[in-house]
Amino acid sequence: MTSHSHIVGYPRMGPKRELKFALESFWDGKSSAEDLQKVATDLRSSIWKQMTEAGIKYIPSNTFSYYDQVLDTTAMLGAVPARYGWNGNEIGFDTYFSMARGNASVPAMEMTKWFDTNYHFIVPELGPDVQFSYASHKAVDEYKEAKALGIDTVPVLVGPVSYLLLSKPAKGVDKSFPLLSLLAKILPIYKEVVSELKAAGATWIQFDEPTLVKDLEPQQLHAFTGAYAELESSLSGLNVLVETYFADVTAEAFKTLTSLKGVSGFGFDLVRGSKTLELIKGGFPSGKYLFAGVVDGRNIWANDLASSLSTLQTLEGIVGKDKLVVSTSSSLLHTAVDLVNETKLDNEIKSWLAFAAQKIVEVNALAKALAGQKDEAFFSANAEAQASRKSSPRVTNEAVQKAAAALKGSDHRRATNVSARLDAQQKYLNLPILPTTTIGSFPQTMDLRRVRREYKAKKISEEDYVKAIKAEIEKVVKLQEELDIDVLVHGEPERNDMVEYFGEQLSGFAFSANGWVQSYGSRCVKPPIIYGDVSRPKAMTVFWSSMAQSMTKRPMKGMLTGPVTILNWSFVRNDQPRHETCYQIALAIKDEVEDLEKAGVTVIQIDEAALREGLPLRKSEGAFYLDWAVHSFRITNCGVKDTTQIHTHMCYSNFNDIIHSIIDMDADVITIENSRSDEKLLSVFREGVKYGAGIGPGVYDIHSPRIPSTDEIADRINKMLQVLESNILWVNPDCGLKTRKYAEVNPALSNMVAAAKLLRTQF
Ligand code: GLN
Ligand code: ZN
Repeated sequence: MTSHSHIVGYPRMGPKRELKFALESFWDGKSSAEDLQKVATDLRSSIWKQMTEAGIKYIPSNTFSYYDQVLDTTAMLGAVPARYGWNGNEIGFDTYFSMARGNASVPAMEMTKWFDTNYHFIVPELGPDVQFSYASHKAVDEYKEAKALGIDTVPVLVGPVSYLLLSKPAKGVDKSFPLLSLLAKILPIYKEVVSELKAAGATWIQFDEPTLVKDLEPQQLHAFTGAYAELESSLSGLNVLVETYFADVTAEAFKTLTSLKGVSGFGFDLVRGSKTLELIKGGFPSGKYLFAGVVDGRNIWANDLASSLSTLQTLEGIVGKDKLVVSTSSSLLHTAVDLVNETKLDNEIKSWLAFAAQKIVEVNALAKALAGQKDEAFFSANAEAQASRKSSPRVTNEAVQKAAAALKGSDHRRATNVSARLDAQQKYLNLPILPTTTIGSFPQTMDLRRVRREYKAKKISEEDYVKAIKAEIEKVVKLQEELDIDVLVHGEPERNDMVEYFGEQLSGFAFSANGWVQSYGSRCVKPPIIYGDVSRPKAMTVFWSSMAQSMTKRPMKGMLTGPVTILNWSFVRNDQPRHETCYQIALAIKDEVEDLEKAGVTVIQIDEAALREGLPLRKSEGAFYLDWAVHSFRITNCGVKDTTQIHTHMCYSNFNDIIHSIIDMDADVITIENSRSDEKLLSVFREGVKYGAGIGPGVYDIHSPRIPSTDEIADRINKMLQVLESNILWVNPDCGLKTRKYAEVNPALSNMVAAAKLLRTQF
């Protein structure tokens, strides 16, 4: 017997990133389209079978994607931008991957973050002239494919309203173009898809409408009502689930959603949505299904089954036994794939974890328990693991808890204000006007990666490793001196990743071998797992940074990753609030900052590349987040001397809305990505925001191999000088140079320094 269990969506990459390798091999021309399709078919069937065997009743299809589910929807609707020269037939790999990745003559479509996850989707480009047509039958094909395996699935579509709300006006289309006005044009295609699915035998269909968790205008909410009313007649005979995820829904959104015509069930994220739970308790439409997302799709922790079961029992009392379906809080796309492949993690930590494959089993166990078939052994093993996680000495470090608790309520700021500090620093550093610097990393060659790998695998000795890294630092230092850069970096040759490098040296972190999560396309990341109180057993960067400083008379930046970025790019423990974990990391970084200062490093950069992306989806929660995030940053450096210059770096230019928080970080110098959106960043300052600290908006794009000319860079700097005072402006690239080649970096930096020197003659 199957229980009332449902999975919102599943990772596509495969337990060992099979899809990634198949995609990359196909893109490189090393394998055929058929090879790629074969890998994809095998992955899909193994996922469907896995869910069937686990006993899941509502198994999703069409959650597989060769690149991105929003791009799949764009293909379904035939909304291909004209520049791809699409012929109007069923969309194949050529057009599809050109939109995703660009081709020799046309750049890719824009990609942006999927809500507050680390997944990125391809942004639809729409306007009044787009001719929509039913151009990809993928949803129907996948439904039939599963059916042929004897598995009846729930086809999943990105809902029509969310699709439009996530799109942007195409180039040349007025920015104020009302995208929702396109509903009337896309709904006929949704109807065609629905009718084909019905004809193929589908009994349920799932529309993902995650934008319902955002702060929506009344007219946007109204669009949902209109769209589903329009679809109602074609949906008749089908059970329809509208799925939301990633946060609470507002009371208005809840009302709109639960009043939609033609819809039989509603899915909610009950992990992040405690207020939603209250709304449900306040009233749920009778006769409708509640898909209760109690198993976390965003994390890697084993579910607390006893606690979930009690929540579910409460809900059962509200919606009725046969109308409650146990589900995941979101698609499992955002968690790791399968714990069975973890060989590096010890059994204790493993018992605390559940990746996607294990979460399926949890969902089913909960559903069966509700149906009166509780697997007592499974539940008690789970309870034991929960208890061991609570009491394990590896999790709790009293000293750290105390130190973090002591931070509360107090403000941590440097004793002197920024302009006085900059004066003190300048006396000491004696930098020219428009000082030049880089963001940290220099190109990482194959040789360098090999050295690190061999050292990790203990194939080369520590001595040889140090020798090799030292030689690399010497090379980078010499190059920067030759280029005549003012504030140097050591190049980060010892790091493969700016978070992992620190996580590996801090207590409270664990690392999986295969815990990959899709970031975009074939790209995956493997976030560290923060399972316990964080502390720093010993200095992490002082050895390399002081070695680098000893090689030059110029200032050498110590290079650290900030607490908020470490937090946002990890799987974070869920047994205490995120800000408490962040404060603990901040204290560890603070120790490192102070050790660097003692070792004679007078410029220290603390990267907060991911500060903005941690902003909660709901505006009402933004202030609280920014407050503790900025506070955590200040904790790291509030104890340094006036003459120690603190830099920070951020990888986005879109920070107009958080500029006051950035000022409140009180860094001496901030370098920021800028070159891909020049005007946007500068407009904040043009509009009168005063920035008294040093600021280095990137003068060229490091994401592209293109070498900017001296004139072009000088032009950019000139533009900046129109809004920013010359005594605070720094000259630097957008971001680290890790992914570039020396053949690009040498001339680009040389032109950058030449441009700075050219402009200095004006003063
Ligand atoms: N210091 C890091 C580097 O240069 C910063 C990287 C980043 O901001 N993503 O690689
Ligand atoms: Zn960056």
